[in-house]
Amino acid sequence: MTIDSGTRLTALFGDPIAHSVSPAMHNAAFRHSGLNFTYLAFRVTESGLEAALEAVRALNIRGINLTIPHKTAALPLLDEVTESARRVGAVNTIVNDNGRLKGHNTDVSGFLTALRGHGFNSAGRKAVVLGAGGAARAVVFALRDAGAAVTVLNRTPAKAAELAAATGAIAGDLGESSVNTALDGAELLINATSVGLYPESEVSPLADYRLKPGLTVMDTIYRPRRTRLLADAQAAGCRVIDGLDMLVAQGAESFELWTGRSPDRTIMLRAAEEALR
Ligand code: NDP
Repeated sequence: MTIDSGTRLTALFGDPIAHSVSPAMHNAAFRHSGLNFTYLAFRVTESGLEAALEAVRALNIRGINLTIPHKTAALPLLDEVTESARRVGAVNTIVNDNGRLKGHNTDVSGFLTALRGHGFNSAGRKAVVLGAGGAARAVVFALRDAGAAVTVLNRTPAKAAELAAATGAIAGDLGESSVNTALDGAELLINATSVGLYPESEVSPLADYRLKPGLTVMDTIYRPRRTRLLADAQAAGCRVIDGLDMLVAQGAESFELWTGRSPDRTIMLRAAEEALR
């Protein structure tokens, strides 16, 4: 790929960003599509976000992905936010049209695309979501929109209650009785906490005896790909879905928003897998 004066820049803003496979994934897709675009990762601290977004305007950077800790903080700093991102309260993708910054949330549809890709139709199904942070918000809104009955369980119950109230879900904590009630009759379990994320890869947000055949278990974590939860779920006879499909799906939608072209998702997946190795 040649970098020249016509190259359009896209980038990730977050802190930390060293673990991210998004640069590898997007640059592979740009190369494969023959687009004169490139993608970099910038460590932007919480206090640096406003200045960084001003730089996006000043330097005419085409697009941005936001990750921890910026997804919510960015909302008031943008010129426009899609209704979906505003409802979720989080932006993970920004498109810059001549200095006008519009925020989108591709985690919501990316999550559903990943789930559907594994043949899981959420309508009328009972789902349990662990966590009430940024990823969990996208997952719960997506599942509710798709017609699932959702229970949100979180370490800090007040955050689960707030998310449940906003989405028409049921809230609970991670205690034994809440977990048992929630899992009774559930067909889908999603881990949207950061429990099990590298380097603390040996911990699971749920004891393995709670996992039963018939349950589909998805982890939003993709580093490691096979989390402790997914290993336990597989051993218990559950169907498992790792976090990489969601990463690729949300990334592909960002790519489309920036370039107007559809990327090759297999190329993106292979590049992400390679970067993880
Ligand atoms: P947040 O910091 O917003 O939320 C973290 C969540 O994890 C909270 O619900 C928090 O509970 C819970 N949590 C953290 N530590 C513990 C613990 N020790 N025990 C129980 N619960 C805990 O992070 P995000 O929502 O942005 O990210 C969560 C995960 O989702 C990350 O692992 C990230 O990698 C993944 N992700 C994956 C994506 C993909 O495309 N595959 C996209 C986005 C995120 P509490 O409220 O009590 O603090």
